[in-house]
Amino acid sequence: MEKKQNLSMSHIKSKINEIKAALPKECRLIAVSKFHPVESIREAYDAGQRIFGESRVQEFVVKQAELPKDIEWHFIGHLQTNKVKQVVAIADTIHSIDSSKLLAEVERYALKADRKIKCLLQVHIAQEDTKFGFDFQECRELLESDLVRSLKSVEIVGLMGMATYTDNRELIKSEFNSLSSFYNELRQTIMIDKPSFCELSMGMSDDYKLAVEEGSTYVRIGSTIFGVRQ
Ligand SMILES: *Cc1c(COP(=O)(O)O)cnc(C)c1O
Repeated sequence: MEKKQNLSMSHIKSKINEIKAALPKECRLIAVSKFHPVESIREAYDAGQRIFGESRVQEFVVKQAELPKDIEWHFIGHLQTNKVKQVVAIADTIHSIDSSKLLAEVERYALKADRKIKCLLQVHIAQEDTKFGFDFQECRELLESDLVRSLKSVEIVGLMGMATYTDNRELIKSEFNSLSSFYNELRQTIMIDKPSFCELSMGMSDDYKLAVEEGSTYVRIGSTIFGVRQ
């Protein structure tokens, strides 16, 4: 029993080291710990990992309370407006802004709590219509809106996207490429005076190498580090 646990522990550490060693220096690892226990997160923490991603509010709140305060928490899952308050209290960054209503709620609660929250707009790049997010034109319109101009506690730092769940590497690569091109377009146009708009969050366990080739600055990796989720 104990032996088995030790083996899985060292797996977490070695995977983190392996992934980090292969990432270019402008790309950071978010260890996605959803569904995994605090013991696994501690093991990753002891290996030097400080950025963690969670996607379910209740689980996030419970784990955050138990873990070291110098962890930088990124919320990456779909966020309902009635749970914004809880997330804003403890998150550093929210990757999954998928409506202007959600953005307005994050701003409202961040102002109240006197916190600064970094946000990424989630962009729909996959062929499945089940994934949340804006299309390119909706992003441009939102970034030029009065709402975005008026933000005080929220800083929009970039874009997040998820590729189609498929074995077709060419398709995945072209989806990441289109998001990366769009991100670069925004940096040269609407966001040209906003140097803080500098993050492109794309790539998960199965496709992060392709994402890095296309210019990702954050990869969100769960199962490769922590094992399959129950
Ligand atoms: C779960 C999740 C990940 C990590 O997925 P893995 O395939 O386990 O690496 C990344 N991004 C989002 C938005 C997720 O929900």
